[in-house]
Amino acid sequence: MASFFYTCSPLPTKITNNPLFPLPSSLKPRTLSLRTTTTTTLSVSATASTSSSVEVNDSSSSTAVRSSKSKSLPFRVGHGFDLHRLEPGYPLIIGGINIPHDRGCEAHSDGDVLLHCIVDAILGALGLPDIGMIFPDNDPKWKGAPSSVFIKEAVRLMHEAGYEIGNLDATLILQRPKLSPHKDAIKANLSELLGTDSSVLNLKAKTHEKVDSLGENRSIAAHTVVLLMKK
Ligand SMILES: [Zn+2]
Repeated sequence: MASFFYTCSPLPTKITNNPLFPLPSSLKPRTLSLRTTTTTTLSVSATASTSSSVEVNDSSSSTAVRSSKSKSLPFRVGHGFDLHRLEPGYPLIIGGINIPHDRGCEAHSDGDVLLHCIVDAILGALGLPDIGMIFPDNDPKWKGAPSSVFIKEAVRLMHEAGYEIGNLDATLILQRPKLSPHKDAIKANLSELLGTDSSVLNLKAKTHEKVDSLGENRSIAAHTVVLLMKK
């Protein structure tokens, strides 16, 4: 299985929920299993109360997602959140667009806070693990990787689960710079990455009233809510 693994957050200190570290059989993970035709069997803990079941079978880079629960629902809603530190010497990339600024996101990949939270929103709607579990940041292949890779993988999983984007609403929180001059470019790029019309994509931005790290230009955050519709 090609490893499309990345995380923007530290590795979990506990490995019980990490698909790369299958649980002991005594714990009987049964909520979610990610299977590949190679040597890897990925299992995710069943500690959550959900009874949903999703399988990902990777056969020569063609992954099939099967989720009986997913297919029974005409709509699925997902929420994503992400935050990154802003540090001098890094590019500021939002929605795949390089935004001129005196600092950028310090992250394992390109630190695109908007794309990361959109990935989490889509994965959440599908009932899949978060971006940190699917793309762990201890894999050097993702160092400096464009976050479009993760978006494309999330979109592929979405389509293979039988869904398409209904609409998406994202809110960026940053004190500087002003995002309004770049919104159209970001939306156009999102439209292309997600394969959907820009009319169903909404992008908002607000400051943090100079409060806390967000308001002091030391971090940037984003929220996304996405509605998926069964094809
Ligand atoms: Zn991130």
